Amino acid sequence: MSSPFHSRVAGALVDDNLHIALNRVTSRFTTLRLNALASLPHADSVRDRARAIRAHTLSRLDIYLAQFADSVEAAGGRVHWAADAHAANRIVAEIAKAARARTVVKGKSMVSEETHLNPALEAEGITVVESDLGEYIIQLAGETPSHIIAPAVHKTKEQVGQLFHEKLGIPLTHDPALLTAAARAKLREVFLTADMGISGVNFGVAETGTICIVTNEGNGRLTTSTPRVHVAMMGIERLVPTLDDLSAMLQVLARSATGQKLSVYTSLITGPRRRRPSKQSEGGPGEPDGPDELHVVLVDNGRSRVLGTRLAEILYCIRCGACLNICPVYQQIGGHAYGSVYPGPVGAVLTPALEGVEPWPELPQASTLCGACRDVCPVRIDIPRMLLELRDAGHRAGQTPAWLKLFLPLYQLAATQPALFNFGAAAARWITRALSSNGWLKRLPPPLSGWTDHRDFPAFAAQPFSAQFKNHHKGAKTQRNTKDSS
Ligand code: SF4
Repeated sequence: MSSPFHSRVAGALVDDNLHIALNRVTSRFTTLRLNALASLPHADSVRDRARAIRAHTLSRLDIYLAQFADSVEAAGGRVHWAADAHAANRIVAEIAKAARARTVVKGKSMVSEETHLNPALEAEGITVVESDLGEYIIQLAGETPSHIIAPAVHKTKEQVGQLFHEKLGIPLTHDPALLTAAARAKLREVFLTADMGISGVNFGVAETGTICIVTNEGNGRLTTSTPRVHVAMMGIERLVPTLDDLSAMLQVLARSATGQKLSVYTSLITGPRRRRPSKQSEGGPGEPDGPDELHVVLVDNGRSRVLGTRLAEILYCIRCGACLNICPVYQQIGGHAYGSVYPGPVGAVLTPALEGVEPWPELPQASTLCGACRDVCPVRIDIPRMLLELRDAGHRAGQTPAWLKLFLPLYQLAATQPALFNFGAAAARWITRALSSNGWLKRLPPPLSGWTDHRDFPAFAAQPFSAQFKNHHKGAKTQRNTKDSS
């Protein structure tokens, strides 16, 4: 039976534009990542350290959260705690109303995608304009991000040219420089007139209350410093204890994400603008720019439930996107087919971890378990292990299809009885070879027909592996004996 997930996948598989766009970006990011990591001395030890920092922070998250909140407030910011998505959106809307904000400019923030902040603010009559170029493109297209660091990865430059022509009224062009300039001109007006800026947070530093935001376009700096109010939305797990720890995380983040040594802009924000001189700069004029108010909204939304479980490791994630770029499933179906805010291998674990397996039965199955995601992850998250945990949870929740429930006990019976197994294998060999043409089957019957919808299936080999192995072994032994006796 075809589920919405399977329909999305089927649609993605026949979308040629999607494949062109995905190929361009995922292969480019993957190569750049390899080169960037090669340029990092002792890259493996840095990754080990990054993992250890994430593990340590999460093991004492309550302590570091309290320290971070105290530090933010000591620096003049305000901290708000949001238990769920609804609370997070309500808090941001209230801050906007108190600031009489009509227009909000927004930097890239996956947690705000998770809480569906934009529609919530728009329902309150507040206009939200995305300032990250990729987010701006998909906002104009009325879509959602399909990649956690490259939200418009699914679009070709030709599609973006057509979109800008239709929505911004510019002459039709596919030149990325001209398209970027057009978006820049539009966004510049918004930066100068917006009453409030909303950003995500890459890392919060517990010891100083600093929030760190990395971007490549400079939109993060304009979003957080030009409007009079800055709201930073942050998942509660995005903490590091110290600035020294932050530097270790930054060494692996940009390299794993975009293959850069550092992102073009790395902003460290500690408190709102200081109008009077700080103690350190006694006698100075105070800070010339920055917002009057800084609000940090700490979003739980299921994270504290995941802590302490066998899925807690997914909270180490630093949202670099490397696991998406390397994943053979993501490379074929892109982000939208997953149906969740977080796509790819990380989303296949994070989404059911935060929201439960019941609404997301297919996500843990959307993987070949090849392990490439674990190999590229800068903090070495064992995604395949957690996918298996989730498959097990899904099975326990009764999500296993009826045909598989029937097949597995039969397979168990055959696999534990050599005579039966050999008989089954011989029958499969005979049938597949009889029905194949040039060694390939064009069609398999349901429920195996999904395989042959997109590729042929090889007929079983004339000799089973066990026989080939025995023959090989025998041949090698004969050769040895001949050598010894000559
Ligand atoms: S799971 Fe690892 S590779 Fe994937 S986005 Fe998170 S940190 Fe990056």
